[in-house]
Amino acid sequence: MPELTTTLKKNLRPAITSGHPWIYSGALTQLPADSTGRPVKVFDKAGFVCWGVADPDHPIAVRVWSLDEDLPPNQDLVTARLLNALALRQTVIPNSVQACRLLHGAADGTPGWAVDRYQHVAVVRTDGPAAIARLDLLVNAIAATSTQSGIRSLVHRRARGDSGGPRAELIWGDEVSSPFMCHEYAWTMEVDPYKGQKTGWFVDQRENRRRVFDIASGLRVANLFAYTGGFSIAAALGGARHVATVDVSEPAIAAARRNFSANGLEPDDYEFAAADAFDWLEAAREGGREFDLVIIDPPSFAPNQRSIGPGSRAYRRLMRLGMSLLQPRGLLAAASCSSHITMAMFTDILAQAATAESRSLQLLARHGAGPDHPVLSAFPEGEYLKFVLSQIS
Ligand code: SAH
Repeated sequence: MPELTTTLKKNLRPAITSGHPWIYSGALTQLPADSTGRPVKVFDKAGFVCWGVADPDHPIAVRVWSLDEDLPPNQDLVTARLLNALALRQTVIPNSVQACRLLHGAADGTPGWAVDRYQHVAVVRTDGPAAIARLDLLVNAIAATSTQSGIRSLVHRRARGDSGGPRAELIWGDEVSSPFMCHEYAWTMEVDPYKGQKTGWFVDQRENRRRVFDIASGLRVANLFAYTGGFSIAAALGGARHVATVDVSEPAIAAARRNFSANGLEPDDYEFAAADAFDWLEAAREGGREFDLVIIDPPSFAPNQRSIGPGSRAYRRLMRLGMSLLQPRGLLAAASCSSHITMAMFTDILAQAATAESRSLQLLARHGAGPDHPVLSAFPEGEYLKFVLSQIS
């Protein structure tokens, strides 16, 4: 097959060479319709710019893989990138953690693939048709490094809206008996790579769960948008006096109760509600309930540029409700996973919510995801998770 090439129509060379991984279709000469997943050489007037992978049916028509003309995005490069990623996790992730992000897309040099690892099971989420078309390269790389990594299975999870296959399927290795238990610091939790949300667990909040464990002693805690209770277990094991776990999903709340039991906590001693978080908060406020720590970790309210306005209003309303349950000097742990809401915008929303509630707010700490979620300096969009701890008086 002749080498596939395309030419930049805009001067993106500085952005690409500083590490930005995306080239939108409008910035390139047309790619052939049948080039999905093929390596493509990108040129401009001055010559070679980068190697990418073609995705003609996706708005991001080329994802950048390499700035070295001698390093095309072939099997060797995929395996080398996986080995680098494994070595980084081995360094930064402690042995007490069995769940982490193994490949964080472009930030690990593997754009289009996000791989979470749960013990010996890896789960890949693909972004775009090219990432699916090239899955055999990932399978080969995982198989080739399996002795070092201990990974024995690879499950593919398609993003919502991706057609052309089942939402979850085993694409390599041993059958996975799902759900199974996995350790994270002092606790253990159920992971279901097939039916769970995302890849089965939210590995990005791991360090923040540990922070909650560290401060929860003696507190009355409300955990909103709790999924299977990660923050709740951390709080309860950290010595919280009371923990309320709220999520709209019945299966998530059922799993949260099982997770409490699995950690030696009697679920009946705690509070669980399969309910809409806004409704639950409103009822709690009406009922005059008081908490010392309110954790709010909603799904993205601003998944795109257009939804920033309404999304910000929804965050503000939620934060006001959360603050209204807090005692003076109570703690609010607020998260946003929208890359369109920056840390500055998010702390602004919190400040506005406090003003509207006639409360004062002290920012105590601002965090993101853990070190298994690297961020490229040229690609700040990759820094999607914000976790802000503040004291509300
Ligand atoms: N905090 C969790 C991850 C939260 S993901 C952890 O650390 O693991 C977001 C969760 O919000 C999902 O579990 C989803 O079921 C829930 N959710 C979405 N809309 C909701 C709503 N209106 N009320 C309550 N929960 C909701």
